[in-house]
Amino acid sequence: MGGFRVGIGYDVHRLEPGLPLTLGGVSLSHPQGLRAHSDGDALAHAIGDALLGAMALGDLGAHFPDTDPQFRGVSSLTLLERIRGLLRERGARVVNVDSTLILESPRIQPHVVEMRARLAGALGVEPEWISVKATTNERLGAVGREEGIAAMAVALVEVDAR
Ligand code: MG
Repeated sequence: MGGFRVGIGYDVHRLEPGLPLTLGGVSLSHPQGLRAHSDGDALAHAIGDALLGAMALGDLGAHFPDTDPQFRGVSSLTLLERIRGLLRERGARVVNVDSTLILESPRIQPHVVEMRARLAGALGVEPEWISVKATTNERLGAVGREEGIAAMAVALVEVDAR
């Protein structure tokens, strides 16, 4: 049955000194980066989970297990391209995504345009349909102590009638 479907995604990764920091497919200059099997792009992961969720296809970990060597250090934009393919196989396409990064630093605003462009490129939509926002955690809790960076996303998917 055709129609629209919505999904939600959340991710968090631990910050550690000396690791690269990639968010929304953009490399950021920062003394700490995210510990992960992939590039640790929590924003891309939250978006990927939202898209999989919209189609009730399980979660990112089920599709791209962190025990699988082929996903070590992989660009999370590549994972989003693969998810776009999973949707396409099912007659579905991304309508829009809204997302929020939760972090104390670095400042995200200067990079939002590039993040939207890269995420949109991976998902095969125009950047105007991909929203990236950021907020701090007001220094509260683990994210507030800069022990990690979190992200959440919602995605709308349109499915062809078959
Ligand atoms: Mg993740």
